Amino acid sequence: MERKIVDFEGFRLCCYSSNTLIIGSGAAALNAAIQLHMAGQKDILIVTEKWGAGTTRNAGSDKQTYYKLSFTGDEPDSARIMAEDLFKGKCMHGDIALCEAQGSVQSFLNLVRLGVPFPQNRYGAWVGYKTDHDPRARGTSAGPYTSKLMFEALSGEVKKRKIKILDNTRVVALLTKSGKNVREVIGALAIDLKADKPENAFILFNSVNIIMATGGPAGIYRDSVYPPSQHGSTGIALEAGATAQNLTESQFGIASLKFRWNLSGSYQQVIPRYFSTDKNGNDPKEFLNEFFPDLRTLTRAIFLKGYQWPFSPDRINNYGSSLIDLLIYRERTEKKRRVFLDYTRNPIGPAGEKFSKNILDNEVYSYLEKSNALKETPYKRLQAMNQPAIQLFLDHNIDISREPLEIAICVQHNNGGLKGNIWWESDLLHLFPVGEVNGSHGVYRPGGSALNSGQVGSYRAAKWISKKYNYNPPPFFEFLELASAQIKEKLALVTKWISEQKRGVSFEELFKEIRVRMSETAGIIRNPGKTGKAVKEAYEMLENIDHQIYASRVKEIADAFRLREHCLTHYIYLSALNKYLEAGGRSRGSFIVTDNKGILPHSKLENHWRFNICNYDRDIENKILEIKYLNKTVRTRLVEVRPIPQQELWFEKVWKKNLEDKMTEC
Ligand SMILES: Cc1cc2nc3c(=O)[nH]c(=O)nc-3n(C[C@H](O)[C@H](O)[C@H](O)COP(=O)(O)OP(=O)(O)OC[C@H]3O[C@@H](n4cnc5c(N)ncnc54)[C@H](O)[C@@H]3O)c2cc1C
Repeated sequence: MERKIVDFEGFRLCCYSSNTLIIGSGAAALNAAIQLHMAGQKDILIVTEKWGAGTTRNAGSDKQTYYKLSFTGDEPDSARIMAEDLFKGKCMHGDIALCEAQGSVQSFLNLVRLGVPFPQNRYGAWVGYKTDHDPRARGTSAGPYTSKLMFEALSGEVKKRKIKILDNTRVVALLTKSGKNVREVIGALAIDLKADKPENAFILFNSVNIIMATGGPAGIYRDSVYPPSQHGSTGIALEAGATAQNLTESQFGIASLKFRWNLSGSYQQVIPRYFSTDKNGNDPKEFLNEFFPDLRTLTRAIFLKGYQWPFSPDRINNYGSSLIDLLIYRERTEKKRRVFLDYTRNPIGPAGEKFSKNILDNEVYSYLEKSNALKETPYKRLQAMNQPAIQLFLDHNIDISREPLEIAICVQHNNGGLKGNIWWESDLLHLFPVGEVNGSHGVYRPGGSALNSGQVGSYRAAKWISKKYNYNPPPFFEFLELASAQIKEKLALVTKWISEQKRGVSFEELFKEIRVRMSETAGIIRNPGKTGKAVKEAYEMLENIDHQIYASRVKEIADAFRLREHCLTHYIYLSALNKYLEAGGRSRGSFIVTDNKGILPHSKLENHWRFNICNYDRDIENKILEIKYLNKTVRTRLVEVRPIPQQELWFEKVWKKNLEDKMTEC
């Protein structure tokens, strides 16, 4: 790796040249670095805004899941069958589904080898269970902190291999070059968050390849269960011209607010009491009772929420588990009340029925009995079933034996994101979006498949780079010549921000505007009129953002770049949603599209909750919506979903190609 210092437009730039730059330090980034290193490509550099920040290291749930092919026990499975299940999630390309299925065993065993303690029985079986949208018990878990354990194992290996890491460094722009009909990345511009003054803060990367593992776009939402340290940077790739897909598809569900945590699994299976209060915590009311006929139906819906965590429009009718999410949303946004989960007391039924084991639905009763958890209160049931779930809140100074948890319906994961091919390479060539920033998933995805996709994608990106793009970057002066106009443009912005006077609107207010707009327009309830208005507002904000920014210190400049990036990201996300709604897209995945000619999911709900379910019989529904931002213009395109391919599986043919070092061709 070559390092140089150059003076440029009044800034002293530190410049690195390497074969591959890896942005981020979550599970996807770290695995990419390890896989490249193992494949012999050692001219690599990890750059991350904060070691230990991001979703992988800081998120979890009661039993955080990794999804893989079921290769132990009595359940028959195959890569093809698993690919079909992923493909059934709709709007997922079949070849990508096949790669994720095929690569899952190898990726899982790599994590095992690195020390992630996935449970195994005495005969060596990696035991599993059924997760959301999973017919074959492919889920496995190392507990509430599976992804944190993955971070620890992978980061230990990165350090053991002495892979170079630049910490406290935020990439603010990707640098590109354009040829005839192709565009490719050639490097990046970053800011050193610890620099003493703006003139010394900028870093340039001259790289053949960029593996972008910047995670989900957490920072554009107000109601969020992403960890506060995750912000996302999808906009830097959008600004550089990369195509995104399925941006309408995210997952939302019940999460605690004081400490952000996903309240799935046993947090619901122990049947806590839901109640709401006014803004000051007065006037408590068990608001769900108005909508459920009896305590048995209510407790069943709460119980089911355990393994039906993401909100889903087709789980509302007939007192389904998602009716609860809808009612929480209504209570908070329309009634302007706060909503809580209480583990100290049992729910009371609509007719004042008292909780007892006799009122429980058979499935609920049998689950609690098998778990030795038929106890008097939700807290005692949780103690019996999952003590670590209690400890986790204690670790954050919240004692759920005394204190209710304030909750909301929060965004948790983006199924969509940047588009990649079967080697996770973007149409902006040499850019490899891996992990959550890559939108490989469809409308629905099995729980745990996000972590698998990140591991498989980063492995495949590394494989392609080590086979095809395994050469040195151009000499530095050549790179600078290609990128100088883009670098100048960004540095001119900085000079302008520094020279501006402080204005009335603070960064916090501008970030808030983006987050409120996204949570209120692109959350679980989506409305065509409201979205059209939100896109216009987002566009105006984007047009004006550079005039609203002032910054003098390094941290402010870094925040200014983030604000621009979030602003563009939210504009593109809203534009994709608007396109979907304008073209007649209906409720699916984790959102409802309100429609006054639709069906009312519950007779006691007001008319504006009517909606129709997506039947995938319209182009906008059964094709993949791609979106791109070029020359300040949004372009969308509907793309046929590619089927699962028939593979070449004749051993001699594949072997021959491998002997010729042409594995990528067979
Ligand atoms: C509450 C919760 C529960 C979940 N449960 C599950 C589950 O059970 N199963 C499952 O499969 N998935 C689950 N997920 C999703 C899964 O955890 C994430 O999709 C995955 O961890 C993302 O990993 P990643 O490596 O892509 O990104 P992250 O781990 O988010 O890492 C992104 C990295 O990029 C860095 N970064 C970002 N922008 C820049 C920049 N411009 N410059 C430098 N660095 C940058 C960040 O600091 C961070 O290091 C859950 C998510 C949440 C929030």
